[in-house]
Amino acid sequence: MEQTLRALYHLQQIDLELDDLEAGSGDLPSEIKQLESELAEVQSTISEFESELSEIRRERNEENLQMQELRTRSIKLNERLGTVRNNREYDATTTEIAAAEERSKDLSKALSAFDDREAEILREVQTHEKKRDEITTNFDDKKETLYSIRESNSDEVEDFRSQREKALKELSEKLLERYGYVRAKHPDAVVKVRKGACSGCFRAVTPQTLVEMRRHEQVFYCEHCGRLLLDEELAESVEV
Ligand SMILES: [Zn+2]
Repeated sequence: MEQTLRALYHLQQIDLELDDLEAGSGDLPSEIKQLESELAEVQSTISEFESELSEIRRERNEENLQMQELRTRSIKLNERLGTVRNNREYDATTTEIAAAEERSKDLSKALSAFDDREAEILREVQTHEKKRDEITTNFDDKKETLYSIRESNSDEVEDFRSQREKALKELSEKLLERYGYVRAKHPDAVVKVRKGACSGCFRAVTPQTLVEMRRHEQVFYCEHCGRLLLDEELAESVEV
């Protein structure tokens, strides 16, 4: 049983080391995910602006064509004004000229509104592209960092994993199940008893249990937090 208790504590130490190595990458994985979704969002905003831009440019081309036709027409109307034969023709022509001028004014307004919106969109696109570039840089840096952390830890992780395999062989399925269950709640599932208390929850262990624990004949659990208990001396003889 003493060997089992040692193996159990050993397993616990290995698992804590592995936790630490995994935690070395900190929040990086979730930060990278976050940046990825920000990147997709800013890219989709840029695409929306770009399609509005091409729509505006298409409409503006059409109106420019209309404007040219209107100018040609105005020139013709003004020429006709010099050749009218009577008042009726004169009035009809001036009315047409006035209408063409009115239409031309409307088109000018519309064209300048398109120009304004185009400038606005171009500014927005520029701002968003800048943002996209910043996110991309950040994203690449974090990915690179995560990669090198994993790379530099990989030997150590490998080593702990093989130690873990060995430790598992010394433990019964039932005990491992209990260990897994406690560890889901407390990462430090196996703790020393220090000064008569569980060093997980710091509550006292009964004197009776303390006496029995020294015999190393069975596994004890903290009756408050459920952690597996080990007497300090035994725990200290275990090395990782
Ligand atoms: Zn406890």
